[in-house]
Amino acid sequence: MYSAKAYSVSSATSPFLPATIDRRDPGADDVQIEILFCGVCHSDLHQARNQWSGVMPTVYPCVPGHEIVGRITKVGSRVTKFKIGDLAAVGCMVDSDGVCPECKAGFEQFCANGVFTYNSPDKHLSGVTYGGYSDSIVVKEHFVLRVPGNLDLAGAAPLLCAGITTYSPLRRHAVSKGKKVGVAGLGGLGHMGVKFAHALGAHTVVFTSSPGKIEDARRLGADEVVLSNDANAMAKHAGSFDFILDTVSAPHDLNSYIHLLARDGNITMVGAPEQPLPVNIFGLLFRRRSFSGSLIGGIAETQEMLDFCSQHNIVSDVEVIPIQKIDEAYERLLRSDVKYRFSIDMASLKSE
Ligand code: NAP
Ligand code: ZN
Repeated sequence: MYSAKAYSVSSATSPFLPATIDRRDPGADDVQIEILFCGVCHSDLHQARNQWSGVMPTVYPCVPGHEIVGRITKVGSRVTKFKIGDLAAVGCMVDSDGVCPECKAGFEQFCANGVFTYNSPDKHLSGVTYGGYSDSIVVKEHFVLRVPGNLDLAGAAPLLCAGITTYSPLRRHAVSKGKKVGVAGLGGLGHMGVKFAHALGAHTVVFTSSPGKIEDARRLGADEVVLSNDANAMAKHAGSFDFILDTVSAPHDLNSYIHLLARDGNITMVGAPEQPLPVNIFGLLFRRRSFSGSLIGGIAETQEMLDFCSQHNIVSDVEVIPIQKIDEAYERLLRSDVKYRFSIDMASLKSE
């Protein structure tokens, strides 16, 4: 066991404070990573503030962060894919049982014995796992990703959650040239969804509640932009979408999006508001539309997504912040004031 520097919260209403946490010494199958950048996901905020108390109550102290990029500082004796000095990345998961049907099918995110990067029971040390708002982490090799050398590191970190969470449903629904695809909410996930839908060749439409993001949406790859609170503008697209990816983090009107789907169209929710949202069933019956959810992606698909980003020169548009500005970043997330992902420069933790 060794000590690492981190930033943690001690309750749902506390500010972040510097902390010292225990990390396990790397075992034979483990990799130790010096964290260089960690993206700030809205899920970090939901968890730090215990907004998902009904599904995954937060254990305090909590060290969030599951968009981790860094450099390998130690490898265990059985590690074969990595060596000291390599770039490496870690997303939302750090372990799973590896033997269940989900793991065998490459869906580690659905393993009943899966371990999330933070706020999951830690079987090595007591308590819960601690995430990437830290200078170092130890992770089982299978859950460590290769970072293609041409990607900017601060912009690559958010790919580990915002990237895979949007890439996976777009691929699953065969988004491609000739398809009309909507992305609701232009935050961290949404802006990655736009980049991927555009790179996959789809006619891409952004739905935003922020007039100030219209220009950026086009720059990010949108063919059209619709203000989601303008009922007339929404009505013009009725019955026309093959697929809509909903990334909105707060309660909103799902039915106004369902109404926009064509026959057999699908809307997939990746946003995770804490309250249930009403669905008008008749909107699904007519035109045989469907409503789904999606959770991050498996490890192999995450590597595929990183390699896709390397080929298409895709990274997240980031505002790099020091860890000391994390509370301010959360306040800005709540105001939808993010362009388009905060990425923490972990060098800022050295001064603590
Ligand atoms: P984010 O950067 O804060 O973006 C969320 C966007 O939603 C905002 O920028 C805003 O976009 C829109 N929005 C927020 N409040 C709204 C409201 N009241 N009405 C209408 N639009 C609103 O968040 P994120 O990191 O992208 O995460 C989005 C959601 O996905 C969160 O709930 C997060 O927990 C969840 N998530 C799920 C998974 C998964 O595996 N399913 C993975 C990661 C994150 P505009 O300004 O364009 O309207
Ligand atoms: Zn996330």
